[in-house]
Amino acid sequence: MSGIADAFNRPVNYLRISVTDRCNLRCIYCLPPQGVPLLPHEDILTYEEIASFVRAASTLGISKVRLTGGEPLVRAGLPGLVAMLAQIDGIDDISLTTNGILLADFARELKEAGLKRVNVSLDSLKPERYAAITRHGELDKVLKGIEKAKECTLEPVKVNVVVMEGVNDDEVTDFARLTMSEGWHVRFIELMPFGGDNPPLAHSIGKAPSPPKFVPVERVMDRLQSLGRLEPSLPPRGNGPARYYRFPSARGTIGFITPISDHFCFNCNRLRLTADGKLRPCLLNDMEVDVHQHLRRGAATEELKETIVGAIKSKPKGHQLARGRTAKERTMSQVGG
Ligand code: SAM
Repeated sequence: MSGIADAFNRPVNYLRISVTDRCNLRCIYCLPPQGVPLLPHEDILTYEEIASFVRAASTLGISKVRLTGGEPLVRAGLPGLVAMLAQIDGIDDISLTTNGILLADFARELKEAGLKRVNVSLDSLKPERYAAITRHGELDKVLKGIEKAKECTLEPVKVNVVVMEGVNDDEVTDFARLTMSEGWHVRFIELMPFGGDNPPLAHSIGKAPSPPKFVPVERVMDRLQSLGRLEPSLPPRGNGPARYYRFPSARGTIGFITPISDHFCFNCNRLRLTADGKLRPCLLNDMEVDVHQHLRRGAATEELKETIVGAIKSKPKGHQLARGRTAKERTMSQVGG
């Protein structure tokens, strides 16, 4: 694997870039209904600045880039950024994490610009429940987005489901069935405690009074037993932290992402860049290294590289959730998930 190693010998070759802190949804576990204070526009990195950063990072062995947010597709001209990144030597995989609401509109353009694949966040297959979880999202648009992405061969399309007790945990078998009938690749994710009010405390939906609670992956696996025996599987393309399984007759896979019950920090190959130009060596730790100032004054590649190496070397060994410590300064939508 390419990528310079951090202080614990983990090669870092994967960069997640948040292109905006704006989002067109207000998922109950991610944002309060009124949203959170937004970055001033002038603080947000331009596409040229992001590309300069990625050029420097690529010379250090970063080869995979994922665009996220906020909702990345609400930022104007995203296919233009993809095209800029696709031309950078050493970048061999550009992917996108989206809520899918605008995906049908942009899938073709993104593919033509050089995007390889998409992950779509989708926490319910029931239109009313989906609207309640996202606080107004239209399920139909997301399903159309998934179909369009497949048609444009932005594959594999992975569907990410954050499982919450009493909110959507009764739907895990419905999602799993789609791996057999439609060849979907579904990943169940444990809800993480994140930020001061994330998951927001003041929410109410369905049977869950407040706030949403995480469901350990073993409980999800137990529920899936009613559909047959899960067999370990190779991952569909990608480099995420999921463990994969499939039902014998299924074209699609089921992945489990377990930041809480079985963390994967020992394998972490990631660096994150926030929309306002801060490097985050760890999602669940507030430590940040500023690259905004370097990018704004057009710093030379060597200087950027030095800053990136510093951030990589400062990656903590692992998160501290077991000790009740998490990132507090920013919400998930402000870091990029
Ligand atoms: N808007 C895009 C989307 O919905 O995919 C990208 C940003 S969103 C913050 C990225 C991912 O973070 C989503 O899959 C969302 O479900 C997940 N997420 C947000 N808060 C979370 C939490 N507390 N625990 C686990 N996942 C969370």
